[in-house]
Amino acid sequence: MGQHTIFQERITAVRQKLNEWEVDGVLVTSPANRRWLSGFTGSNGQLLVTANKALIATDFRYYAQAGREAPDFALFKHQRTLADTQDFLAESGAKTVGLEAKYVTLASMIELEEVKGVTWKPLLLTLEPLRLRKTAVEVKAIQEACAITDDVMAQVPHIARAGMSEREVAWELEKTLRQAGAEALAFDILVASGPNSALPHHHPGERCLQAGDPLIVDMGAQVDGYKSDMTRSFYLGAKASVHYFELYQLVLRAQTAVFQNAKPGMSLKAVDAIARNMLDRAGHADHFGHGLGHGLGLGIHEDPLLSPRASDEDTIEVGTIVTIEPGCYLPDWGGIRLEETALMTDAGLVPLTHCPKVPGIAMK
Ligand code: ZN
Ligand code: ZN
Repeated sequence: MGQHTIFQERITAVRQKLNEWEVDGVLVTSPANRRWLSGFTGSNGQLLVTANKALIATDFRYYAQAGREAPDFALFKHQRTLADTQDFLAESGAKTVGLEAKYVTLASMIELEEVKGVTWKPLLLTLEPLRLRKTAVEVKAIQEACAITDDVMAQVPHIARAGMSEREVAWELEKTLRQAGAEALAFDILVASGPNSALPHHHPGERCLQAGDPLIVDMGAQVDGYKSDMTRSFYLGAKASVHYFELYQLVLRAQTAVFQNAKPGMSLKAVDAIARNMLDRAGHADHFGHGLGHGLGLGIHEDPLLSPRASDEDTIEVGTIVTIEPGCYLPDWGGIRLEETALMTDAGLVPLTHCPKVPGIAMK
């Protein structure tokens, strides 16, 4: 029943937006928005919300599931034909319908243009602003996903050995995440060793770990659809080089400064600048080429984006969950990134990931 209520609240919140969007209804097809608004987890389905209707259209495979998962929506049986789409729109009565411009493909647009009597209105943002502030239930799922990731990240020093390939390490971690209770991975695990760790989104390959390598592990678990995201950096060998140790401390100080100084209502740009300015002053302006962090929830990359390119008006508010992930990447040498998933509260940012930051891994 609790679930029931939250979806009714969300439908009401969407209805309150229809005037601002200048539409009679909105068609929701992207998986994360669809799940957030209805609870439906299937792979095919469309929601249509108007002032007085909330409809879910899905095909034969999902009739029973949609009825069970999305009881706040009236089920419309849709066998993926133009005639069904025409009837679905007629059933809603909507004449001007908003579309998720970021997610509707050109191919679907061509099909939608065939529907008679409807004017489509692409909307750059639909449910995303409504999803920013997480409910207690959402925070709890993300906390569970974070706790699983904490446990598995703590095992990296026991798993990683000289001679193992990045791909083997990633596979061991994937199995361990699943055994620890992750229903899925939040994203493909990133294991980057040696010079590969200078590539922020390196895909684990055949390179074998060796003593003296920097190592970056970035991973997350999924619980009830909600994700966690955490990165730890390591040095393979008994004793980190002075260079590695200094860079590690710099990135750690930049991350700590964000936790100490970010407050609700600050601009996204200002939060990013806390870490960026520290790296700049240390001579690494060119070595931190990505944003400080991103929102996450049902999606792994959600709003808000903490970035130097964010607009001055956009701020971070209480209830938002973001990653804080400063990094420093030196081409041909390697890189360091530390990432926490964190919740913005009245008192400031609180980390939801807690795995200790211990960079040294003794090589067997
Ligand atoms: Zn990450
Ligand atoms: Zn991230």
